[in-house]
Amino acid sequence: MLTESTTLLVIGGGPGGYVAAIRAAQLGIPTLLVEGEYLGGSCLNVGCIPSKALIHVADEFAKARQFAGDSPLGIKLQSPAIDIAKTVEWKDGVVTRLTSGVAALLKKAGARVVKGRARIVDGKTVEVSPADGGAPWRIGCEHLLLATGSVATALPNLPFGDAGGMVISSTEALSPATLPKRLVVVGAGYIGLELGIVYRKLGVEVAVVEAQARILPAYDEELTKPVAASLRALGIEAHTGCTVRGLNAAGNAVRIRNLAGEERELPADRVLVAVGRQPGSTGWGLESLGLAMNGRAVQIDAQCRTSMRNVWAIGDLTGEPMLAHRAMAQGEMVAEIIAGKRREFVPAAIPAVCYTDPEIVVVGPSPQEAEAAGIDCIHAHFPFAANGRALTLEAAGGFVRVVARRDNHLILGWQAVGRGVAELAAAFSQSIEMGACLEDVAGTIHAHPTLGEAVQETALRALGHAIHI
Ligand code: FAD
Ligand code: NAD
Repeated sequence: MLTESTTLLVIGGGPGGYVAAIRAAQLGIPTLLVEGEYLGGSCLNVGCIPSKALIHVADEFAKARQFAGDSPLGIKLQSPAIDIAKTVEWKDGVVTRLTSGVAALLKKAGARVVKGRARIVDGKTVEVSPADGGAPWRIGCEHLLLATGSVATALPNLPFGDAGGMVISSTEALSPATLPKRLVVVGAGYIGLELGIVYRKLGVEVAVVEAQARILPAYDEELTKPVAASLRALGIEAHTGCTVRGLNAAGNAVRIRNLAGEERELPADRVLVAVGRQPGSTGWGLESLGLAMNGRAVQIDAQCRTSMRNVWAIGDLTGEPMLAHRAMAQGEMVAEIIAGKRREFVPAAIPAVCYTDPEIVVVGPSPQEAEAAGIDCIHAHFPFAANGRALTLEAAGGFVRVVARRDNHLILGWQAVGRGVAELAAAFSQSIEMGACLEDVAGTIHAHPTLGEAVQETALRALGHAIHI
């Protein structure tokens, strides 16, 4: 068996693992990254990037369809059509460009990449079965970084691949060979709604089934109301407070049951199950290390150390929030700690964006969460209906909200819902991470006309002297 040794061995080339490997190599640490499938992980190949590419296509197509009808903008088009094979090809092109970029960045930094599945031997040794079928390798290391990500949660009564491939996960939903006539989406969380809206805008009849009493239950209700209204306007049926029982005998409908125990069938020729993701902690020998766990997630401290010395873990493998930017930030930090820098993972807030129509951004606590934490806070919101740029973009729905301490006006949280608000995440995160007070944002000149003016107006309103409302 081939053997080799390195200082840092990273298992998993997703946003956590590849960022860690690039930063470590930049810092002169001999680094080897093992990736079982594709560089870029879920994020670049079957997650963040392909979903946002399809969201863009669906938005453009919906616009074209609007122009073919009675558009208030006065634009007239003949009836547009979608060539889904070409759409998927374009999306794959974006993915390939980014994953090749990651490979080039790793090479440039001096990190070595091994293609193959890693299996833990012990805390300092990993066996790799090369993807090309060659002889297995043993790699010894001083530091082992676990970054194997997560996998889609399956439902026992609707297993992936059931009914001849009719029941799918987000991975298949992102590369459809054809569009179904009727899609049933199980789970009205991030994936269910982002992709449910895509399919609806591409002309598919979509019904969403959610076990909780409302859509996007992880977000506060005020933020989700404009999304619920948009689902209605798009013609997406939302069956909240319902559980799925499985497919009917004919395999052409999903049986659901509401809280009153009443059952009904939702016709479907494809079913997307999007009920969450679980840390990918099984199937590669991790159990043999006997690490402290939180359920299926590897337990880590504020430096991403596991319970075993020099074994580190980052990203989705360590549980919620399962977001690419958290994985990247953790990966960069671990590389710097191994290089001898003093670092801790103590972000003031981790932004979360839901790319529904309209989009939702959350950075820091909502008023209710701040109150529950015993903080005396003030909060205010400013509607996009009073923002000039929003009106010129036909994006007058939604609002920005700020939460700040009452005593010193330190900003704790920002939330927004509206078209294009994802891009406000940077301003929100920066103001919180830099310890801004309401006065700092209120006193900053914001360019006119921009959606960002609503951020300044929200701060002004919290101080009691908004100008444009
Ligand atoms: P991953 O990206 O999952 O990478 C893990 C890698 O490890 C994989 O490449 C896998 O092949 C490899 N691996 C696993 N086991 C082994 C082994 N034994 N040997 C070798 N290699 C192995 N997050 C956002 O922040 N924004 C979004 O908009 C967003 N959209 C998403 C949309 C979808 C449809 C999905 C599914 C997820 C989305 N996410 C989004 C979540 C995001 O993709 C993850 O949080 C992120 O990819 C986690 O990064 P990671 O490095 O921890 O793991
Ligand atoms: P999620 O946790 O966002 O949503 C799952 C939904 O399914 C929840 O609303 C839950 O109540 C519901 N549910 C659970 N069991 C059910 C059942 N049996 N029947 C009906 N409903 C049920 O999970 P997801 O949408 O699968 O996404 C997984 C993870 O991927 C997210 O937590 C997030 O970390 C990441 N992600 C992020 C983004 C983004 O940042 N924009 C986009 C997609 C995915």
